[in-house]
Amino acid sequence: MAIPTIPANTDDAATTSFVDGLMARLSLAEKLGQLNLLTASLPIGKERADEIRAGRVGGLLGGLFPCSFGVGGPRALREVQEIAVHESRLGIPLLLAYDVIHGHQTVFPIPLALSCAWDMAVVETAARWAAREASAQGLNWVFSPMVDIGRDPRWGRIAEGPGEDPYLGACVARAMVKGLQGDDLRQPDTVMACVKHFVGYGAAEGGRDYNNADMSPARLREVYLPPFQAAVAAGAGSAMLSFLALNGMPSHADAALIEECLGGLLTVSDFDGIPEMIAHGLGDEEGRIDEADPLQTLAERSLRAGVHMDMMGHAYATRLEAALAAGRVTQAHIDAACRAVLRAKVRLGLFDDPFARFDEARAARTVHAPEARAAARAAAAQSCVLLQNKGDLLPLPRQTLNLAVIGPLADDTANILGPWSFQGDPGTAVSVLEGIRQAAGPGVRVAHARGANITDDPRMLELANFAGPRVVNDPRPPETLIAEAVAVASAADVVVAVMGEASEMSGEAASRQDLGLPGGQRRLLEALHDTGTPIVLVVMNGRPLTLSWETDHLPALLVAWFGGCEAGAAIAELLFGDRAPSGRLSTTWPRQVGQIPLSYDHASTGRPGDPKADPGKYSTRCYLDGPSTPLFPFGFGLGYTTFAYDDLAVDKATAVGADTVMVSVRVTNTGSRAGQETVQLYVGDPVASVVRPVRRLRGFQKIPLEPGEARRVSFEVTTRDLEFFHPTRGWGWEAGAFLLGIGPHAEATQTVRVDWRKEA
Ligand code: BGC
Repeated sequence: MAIPTIPANTDDAATTSFVDGLMARLSLAEKLGQLNLLTASLPIGKERADEIRAGRVGGLLGGLFPCSFGVGGPRALREVQEIAVHESRLGIPLLLAYDVIHGHQTVFPIPLALSCAWDMAVVETAARWAAREASAQGLNWVFSPMVDIGRDPRWGRIAEGPGEDPYLGACVARAMVKGLQGDDLRQPDTVMACVKHFVGYGAAEGGRDYNNADMSPARLREVYLPPFQAAVAAGAGSAMLSFLALNGMPSHADAALIEECLGGLLTVSDFDGIPEMIAHGLGDEEGRIDEADPLQTLAERSLRAGVHMDMMGHAYATRLEAALAAGRVTQAHIDAACRAVLRAKVRLGLFDDPFARFDEARAARTVHAPEARAAARAAAAQSCVLLQNKGDLLPLPRQTLNLAVIGPLADDTANILGPWSFQGDPGTAVSVLEGIRQAAGPGVRVAHARGANITDDPRMLELANFAGPRVVNDPRPPETLIAEAVAVASAADVVVAVMGEASEMSGEAASRQDLGLPGGQRRLLEALHDTGTPIVLVVMNGRPLTLSWETDHLPALLVAWFGGCEAGAAIAELLFGDRAPSGRLSTTWPRQVGQIPLSYDHASTGRPGDPKADPGKYSTRCYLDGPSTPLFPFGFGLGYTTFAYDDLAVDKATAVGADTVMVSVRVTNTGSRAGQETVQLYVGDPVASVVRPVRRLRGFQKIPLEPGEARRVSFEVTTRDLEFFHPTRGWGWEAGAFLLGIGPHAEATQTVRVDWRKEA
């Protein structure tokens, strides 16, 4: 029985009446089918096909492994949709989902890297290309953006998110949603966003993935929630719950937070998240459990909490009929969930044309289009962060240079794509070695040696290769590899050492205790250092690494993250100065794992002191065995020129109520090359009724400046920027003095005081 088409310009009333009509025709089993999200590989087997035919499936999630869903599979995917549309009783199209995290086939830098661009056009463009490619293959739903604030680099999933700061995270969340969903989700080159993982997942204690967290209401609302709220305000179509229990409440059962923050959105469980509450030891709202069938209790609880779709938990499909019969969930609960799924399908235009997104011609034009590759290259270049450049070793001159390109990631086209790049084909990626060879020009001789494996630890190797053979080790003994590299380095003018993590050492289930370069890479670096040839260390990584030794001993350090399929070319352009590095850290970089957690917006302590000037006295903030300060602060990054900040000014030193204060500074490019500076605004509230963070980012502007050029950069500050979450009064601001600080990073601001009164 065919579904009537609805007008293209569906307004909300029309959607409601269309969904009402559909709801009236759905049986209970079909309603529960809409709540069921299953995985599949293509071509799907008979069992899945029969479930779809019977109306027992609302959406399908592509398996994660290469080619299982998406690449090479659009036709098979179309066949799946055809079964749903033509062979099920009501012909309701499927949501077709995939983890499209940083590009699809044209792989862009990992999200943590993209956030270091501090450029929302770059972020939005990356998401737009991902949507174009994924949608042309028939996908209509992506499990992105991941906007979990990450402040613990031991947690591997920090790679997938926007870094440590809620303001920057909210900007990234908005840009991602806009890029994925476009202006109108009915357009076939869009996909529905799914903001995840709601909420606090990044706070997992000890950085251990899947662990729980406890945090104050202020921290939740000021730090972890804002990116979600920004995504929702930007129109994100759906949200995914998280595996963690926050303050004792697994998010899949957190009725209050779901209702408060995600009302109106389609919500989906994380993979198996509902059954996993059994292991959490959760019962129903009264602490009771059906001991014979605990999943029964938790399926009911999750639905009551407002989780609409069950991803691979097999909980809703198998338990809700009995729950309804027993009166433990109501028809209204089931209907609300089903309506959320149907509304999302309407929003996507799936009832108008369920096949609009299957477009082989568009796919052929889009996938790896030159414009997509150019955007990926620009994004990779903007994401790199130059952390050190002593003696202006960079950019490298193109005249008569003997360059040694050394390291296990130099000639790599697999790990460079980063975690969650299952549709990325290493055959389409440019390695750093290849990028350098292409960019070098005739004056530069390029020699290469591997020097070390990423790791020789069999356990790490197995994990690093779980999604395919990305790490292929050189079987020769470490000494042989090092000796070969030392010989190459000794004959060179400069070494470019390309080292870091394997891609799967970050991402899900990839927490690390040791954040140094893995395996024998440090040993290799020490041997290279002993040759006396100056070394540029290019790091590939999915998280901040502890590189104290490297910073102390090597002149230049460029953090390249996992930059995607064009990263090798982008890195080469930066090394030779065809582009200048302009990335800024979106996370604090610790010196030692023992300093974690470390973020720039820590609360003021009773003994703040100056640990550098007076290390003994202010013992509460100091370690006996090392500094408390970070290796590199939040917001930090260098380029090939220098910038001076002066003439900080406010338009009023006293503000009242709804006033806007303009704070501005003059920024001058004092070097001899063009460059981009990211001017950052921080607000501090030095005296309040509760202890406040020392400062919080409230704005930034990335500006290009020619040599000698000066520009005044202005920010508007309103009382919104002064607000905080008070433990008993909730959101608000208090009259008093505020410090408005502008500078190149969190630890280098010039501040001006403004007294802000409630009334004149
Ligand atoms: C992850 C999600 C992901 C889902 C589907 C889960 O394990 O936590 O981020 O979207 O799998 O692949």
